[in-house]
Amino acid sequence: MDAALGAPAKMAEREEDLTPMMAQYFELCREYDDSLVLFQVGDFYEAFCEAAERVARICEITLTKREDSTGEYAMAGIPIDNAESYIERLLEAGYRVAVADQVEDPDEVSGVVDRAVTRVVTPGTLTEDELLRSADNNFVACLTADGPGGDATTRDTKRAGGGAGAGGDENGPYGLALLDVSTGDCYATGADRLDSVADELGRFAPAEAIVGPDAPTDVFDGDCMVSPYERTAFDAERARERVEAYFGDLGLADEAEVRAIGALLSYAEYTRGGNPDAGDIGDDATAEVARPGATAEGDAGGDDTGEAHTTGDPTDAATTLDYINTLTRYDPREYMLLDRVALESLELFDRRAVHGDRALTLVDALDETACALGRRKLDDWLRRPLLDEDRIAARHDAVAELTGDVGLREDLHELLDDVYDIERLISRVARGRATARDLRSLHDTLAVVPDVRAALDDAESATLVELREQLDPLADVRELIDEAIQEDPDADLTEGGIVKPEFDDELADLRSTEREGKAWIDDLEAGERERTGIDSLKVGHTSVHGYYIEVTDPNLDRVPDDYQRRQTLKNSERFVTPELREREDEIIRAEDRADDLEYELFCEVRRDVADESERVQALADRLARLDVFVSFASVAAKFDYTRPCVGAKEFAVEAGRHPVVERAEERFVPNDAHFDDEHFFAVITGPNMSGKSTYMRQVALTSVLAQAGSFVPAAEARLPVVDRVFTRVGASDDIAGGRSTFMVEMTELADILNNATDESLVLLDEVGRGTSTADGLAIARAVTEHIHDEIGATTLFATHHHELTAIADELSGVFNLHFETEHADGEVAFEHEVAPGAAAASYGIEVAKLAGVPGEVVDRSRELLDESDPGSDGPGAVESNGHDLEENVRVSSTADESGSGGGDDSGPPSDLERELADLDVATMTPLEAMNALAELKESLDE
Ligand code: ADP
Ligand code: MG
Repeated sequence: MDAALGAPAKMAEREEDLTPMMAQYFELCREYDDSLVLFQVGDFYEAFCEAAERVARICEITLTKREDSTGEYAMAGIPIDNAESYIERLLEAGYRVAVADQVEDPDEVSGVVDRAVTRVVTPGTLTEDELLRSADNNFVACLTADGPGGDATTRDTKRAGGGAGAGGDENGPYGLALLDVSTGDCYATGADRLDSVADELGRFAPAEAIVGPDAPTDVFDGDCMVSPYERTAFDAERARERVEAYFGDLGLADEAEVRAIGALLSYAEYTRGGNPDAGDIGDDATAEVARPGATAEGDAGGDDTGEAHTTGDPTDAATTLDYINTLTRYDPREYMLLDRVALESLELFDRRAVHGDRALTLVDALDETACALGRRKLDDWLRRPLLDEDRIAARHDAVAELTGDVGLREDLHELLDDVYDIERLISRVARGRATARDLRSLHDTLAVVPDVRAALDDAESATLVELREQLDPLADVRELIDEAIQEDPDADLTEGGIVKPEFDDELADLRSTEREGKAWIDDLEAGERERTGIDSLKVGHTSVHGYYIEVTDPNLDRVPDDYQRRQTLKNSERFVTPELREREDEIIRAEDRADDLEYELFCEVRRDVADESERVQALADRLARLDVFVSFASVAAKFDYTRPCVGAKEFAVEAGRHPVVERAEERFVPNDAHFDDEHFFAVITGPNMSGKSTYMRQVALTSVLAQAGSFVPAAEARLPVVDRVFTRVGASDDIAGGRSTFMVEMTELADILNNATDESLVLLDEVGRGTSTADGLAIARAVTEHIHDEIGATTLFATHHHELTAIADELSGVFNLHFETEHADGEVAFEHEVAPGAAAASYGIEVAKLAGVPGEVVDRSRELLDESDPGSDGPGAVESNGHDLEENVRVSSTADESGSGGGDDSGPPSDLERELADLDVATMTPLEAMNALAELKESLDE
C-alpha cells in the first residue's frame, strides 16, 4: 500500500484529538483511500503528511508544515487557480486525485467550513479541457467475466468473438463497456473469448480500466491504469437497475455486459463526487437510481448504423450524469475487425503508432474536419469500418455528392468551422460546470444549424437529404439562451454580467435601481460644487470606504453642515452625506441581490438546457457525420481519390497508392492489386526497400478506407467486404517495438490461423524471420499451405525466403509478385513497381552492388550463388524455379550448416530427409512444426 494514500498514520494515532478541520481531512482520506486527497483551505488545495511529501516532490512545490495543538504535520499546497496543471502531474505519476472543495461559504458559517469531494480525477474520466489534450475521445473501460471463475450464475449466452472452431474460453463470456465521460459516449459489447476483448480494447485504447471480480487484468495495454472496483457495483441486480435508470430497458443484453455497464456508470458517478461506496448502494439502492426508466428504442443517434442505441429518460436532476443517455451496444461482428497489432502496423491512429511521432498517421492524412465533433467521428469510423454493403454505399453516396460540388463542400466546411465541441459542452452543462460563455457558445452553434440546413437544400443523395431533415436547430433552446444570457458574458458566474436584465422583472428592477443610484452619484459632483462653491470638490469611490466627497484642506471652511467626516488624508478630507450613504446602501443592496439573482437564473437556464441534452447530442452526432462526409470529400478531391465499389467478388485495384506514404514521397509509384477466388495468395519477393511493406499496407488501407465510407487513393477499385484485417510483421522488422521475440510472432500467427476466414485480408510481412532459415522457411511454407487449403483468406506474404516462391507451382491459389531494381544508365535504382513473378534470388547481390561493394566481390558472390542454387541465374523475374520443399530445405541447410547431414542430389535419401518428407506440414500447428523441427535438429546432432 502506498503510504501517500489513505488515512495518514500520524493522524490515526491521535484521531480523537484532531482539530475539526484535520478530522475532516482524515475522514476524507479514509473514504477515498485509492486517491490523493486535495483539501481546499482558502485559495489552496492542501495535502498533509506522506501525501504532502509526495505531492511536493511530484509537483515540485515547497513542503511546509502545519502546527496545531495536536502536533506538527507536513503540508504542501497547490494554488487553486492553477490546480489543473498540478493535477495533471499527479495523474502522470499514476495517481487518482480526489478534490475536496469547501462546500459552504466561509462567510456564512461559524466554525469549520464543510468540505466534500466534488470530483475524483482519474486518467480515464477526465472532463476538464485543460487535462484533455486533444479533441480525441478519452475512454475508461470496464471488464467483467461471467465464467465459472466470475460472479454470475448464468452463462447461457453466446456472443461474438468465437473464431473458427474456437468456443468460449474458461472465464467467458466477458462483458466490456467503454465510456467517455467528457462527451457521454458509451459503448458496450460482449465476447466469449479474451482475444476478442483484447481486439476491442485495441480499437478504443482506453486510458483507464476497472475490472470486476475475477476478470483478467493482463489484457490491457501497459499504459492503461487498471484497478479492481467495488465488488458490489458488479452485482447483477444492482447493475441492471442502474443501467435501466440511465438507458431504459436493454432487452436481451448479456448479463456480463449489463454488469460491465452498470459498474462503469457507478464508477463514473463516483468520480463525480458521488457516494464513494457507489457500488455498495445497499438498501437505498432503489432510492439512488430511481429515475423514470422510460424505454425508448431506436435511433437517438439517427445515423446509418444499425446499432441498438438505447435511450432513457433522464429527468431526475439529482444525479449529475444526465448527459449519459445514449448507449451504443454493438456486436464486434458488425464491423471490420482491426486488432491491436493491425492498428499498430497500419498506423491508423497517433497514439498507437509504433514509431511515436515520426509519421503521419492515417487519421491525420484523412483529417480535413472542421470541428472537434467531426474529428472524433472520423476516429470512430476508422476504428470501426462497416461490413454492411448498403450502409457503406450510403456513406459513399454522400461523399460522392460533396466531392462533385466544390461550392457546397466549402460552404459546409466554413459553417462547420463555427461549430463548438457541443458534445463536451453539453456534458459540462449537465454536470453543472458550464459557464455562461459555454451557453453562449452553444447558442452560436445552434445559430449555424439553419444555415447548414439551407446549404443542404439542393442536396440529392438520400444520405444528405436525410441528414438535413434530421438537423434539429433546437430553436427553443437557442431562444432561451438568447433571451437569458448576455452576449459577451463574464467568465465568473457570481459577479453579475451574465444574465440580461430584461429576462426577469425583478432583475430588471434591481438593475434599474442600481443604475439610477449610480446616475444620481454621477450628478452629485456637479451639484455639490454648485451648492458649496468649491470648484475642486470631487466625488470618488474606494472599495474599502465606498463613496466619498473629497474636499482639499484650504476649502474645508466652506463644507456644509450635513457633511460627515469619513477619512482624513494628507491634504484633504473625505466626507459623506446621509443621502449619499443611503443611495450607496441602495446600490449595494440592489447589486448584491441582482448578482445572486443572476446566478440563480443562470442555473435555472442551465438546468433547462441540460434537460435537452439528448437533443443536443443527437444534433452533435449529425453535425459530426456531416463534417466527416465533407472531410472525406475534400481529401478525395484534393488527392484524387476514387469511389470504390464495395461488395465485389474480387479485389481489383488499378493504380492504387498508399494514402500516407504518397504524401511524403515526391514521386509515388501506383500499383495494381488483383485477387480473386482463383488467385488469392500472393508471395511477394524483392530487395529491401523496394516497396513490399508499403504495397501490402496500401492494399489493407484501401479496404479500411472504403469500408469506413471514404473514397480510396486509386484510379479504380472494386473490393470485397473484408471482415478482418490481420497484419503480422516479422520479429526482426519490429525490434523498435521491443517485442522481437519469436514467441510473440508465433502467437500472433496462431491467432490468424485460428480466426481468419475466407473474407479476411491477411498481411504477412517477413514472418518467420526470428528463427533459423530452415525452420523459418518450414513454418512459412506450412502457414501458406494452411491458409491456402483451409482458410482461403486473401493473403499477401512478403518474404525473404526466396524458396517460398516455388509454392506457386503447387498450390493453385498462390501466385508470385515481385519488386525489382531498375538499371537505368547503368545505375541501380528502386522502381517501387510490382510485377508478376518471383524476384531473382540474387537480389541481395544486386543490393551489395548498389551499396558500392567492390566488383570482384560481387562477381565472386554470383559464382558462389550459382554453385549453391542452380535455379537462380542472375537478375530478372523467375516465373518458377521448380524446386519443391524438401529440396529447398536441403539447399538451405547445406548452405547454413556446411554439409552436416545434407546429401547431394544423386545419393539415396538420408533418414533426416525421409523424416522430413513424412511430415504433414499442412495439418500441423505452428507449435507442432516447431517441435518437429526441434526433434529433427536433435536427430541431426546425434
Ligand atoms: P520493403 O518492405 O520492400 O523493404 P518498403 O515498403 O518499406 O520496402 O519501402 C521502402 C521505402 O520506399 C518507403 O519508406 C517509401 O519511402 C518508398 N516507397 C515504397 N513504395 C513506394 C512507391 N510505390 N512509390 C514511391 N516510393 C515508395
Ligand atoms: Mg518491409
